[in-house]
Amino acid sequence: MHRILSAPEVAQYEASLGRETVKGAVEQMLDRVRASGEEPSFETIVAGAAGELERLQQGRLQPLINATGIIVHTNLGRAPLAPEALDAIARLGRGYSNLEYDLESGGRGSRYARLAGAIGEATGAQDALVVNNGAAAVLLLLDTFAKGREVIVARSQLVEIGGGFRVPEVLERSGATLVEVGTTNRVYIEDFERALSPRTAMILRTHPSNYRIEGFTHEAGPKELVGLGRRAGVLVAEDLGTGALDSLSAYGVESERTVRDALDDGIGLVSFSGDKLLGGPQAGIIAGRAQLVARLRSNPLLRALRVDKLTLAALDATLALHRDGRERIPVYRMLAATLDQLRERARGYLAAIPQTAIVESSGYLGGGALPGHEIASIAVAVETGDADGLAADLRYGDPPIVARIEDGRMLLDLRTIAPDEDEVVIAAVRTLTLFPRS
Ligand SMILES: *Cc1c(COP(=O)(O)O)cnc(C)c1O
Repeated sequence: MHRILSAPEVAQYEASLGRETVKGAVEQMLDRVRASGEEPSFETIVAGAAGELERLQQGRLQPLINATGIIVHTNLGRAPLAPEALDAIARLGRGYSNLEYDLESGGRGSRYARLAGAIGEATGAQDALVVNNGAAAVLLLLDTFAKGREVIVARSQLVEIGGGFRVPEVLERSGATLVEVGTTNRVYIEDFERALSPRTAMILRTHPSNYRIEGFTHEAGPKELVGLGRRAGVLVAEDLGTGALDSLSAYGVESERTVRDALDDGIGLVSFSGDKLLGGPQAGIIAGRAQLVARLRSNPLLRALRVDKLTLAALDATLALHRDGRERIPVYRMLAATLDQLRERARGYLAAIPQTAIVESSGYLGGGALPGHEIASIAVAVETGDADGLAADLRYGDPPIVARIEDGRMLLDLRTIAPDEDEVVIAAVRTLTLFPRS
């Protein structure tokens, strides 16, 4: 036991996993050896224990390199944070802060009020509130305004977003009754009008961010819905999800509805995520008319959905970059990279790694955000026989690299690899193609 624990192949895991975990893994390994009745060599046991520890290590939360080309990748932690946001987290997390303290009066202050100004400036909203994530924002919205009452939603917008967030289920949990209108592909303002009843609390629009219905379609426009809502005295809210603050047309992404678009249409409350196109930390933001936000703020459920100081610090710093220095936000830096720049970097890969080619690729804005929006990109294709095996070996590295398999080839999409990660990726792929592990 002692000899195994001091073998360098095993001992190296102590720093990251802790002595007890390493010991436990070795004990289990020895138990298995005893149970098998075989007598493997010392080296075999050490190698087996090291393999087990590597698997444990892989299971920990750790940074990795995203070579998939999907910018806002829900499974890979969505938006990477800007240096300014990370600095803000460190500055605020280190000590005490005026999180709920009013320095002027020396009395209690509001955790939520502070960001409202910055969000208002970015979106045109009168007031805003920040909660834990987009799902919490929708839950709070429904709980506040629609509990025990009816919410009208177009059938075409009853979507499931990645991670099992289904609008109908959230509606049900919040004690509201869903009233579906229209068919899968077509809905008219008259459908909404007919569905109105004395129990109607809200007309809810959602942003079908992960799919598109094409062909023979018709939608009731947001302005029409707002007009109907005004006449009927019913709140019109929108779960925008992605939360683009400005047009993305400069990056070749057309027609992504912004928060400001929704508010300009007269939508009363708009909810969106902090870690999609805003490019900040996980958060849910609800922005809109002051009097409506005030009602959200007085809902006791808010206490369970509230955000912590680190999130607020990072969000504040990210919003400041939206005003002044947007391309310091990693999501926008990735969007802004030109094909020529990506091609230039790809040449560095080609020079260093055998059996590679530069290919045109299409990346995506994002899994949970807008996979419908393709973004032209450049990838390095590695033309080895076993693309899946190579991709698995890369995931097993330190840091792990997650590549994309397309048409039997492994692609490294340069749009989501940061330029300062190129060197690490090149070294890892070069080593694996020259000396395959398996
Ligand atoms: C992403 C998304 C959500 C969920 O937001 P989270 O921040 O992941 O909780 C809800 N609605 C829409 C339309 C979304 O795109």
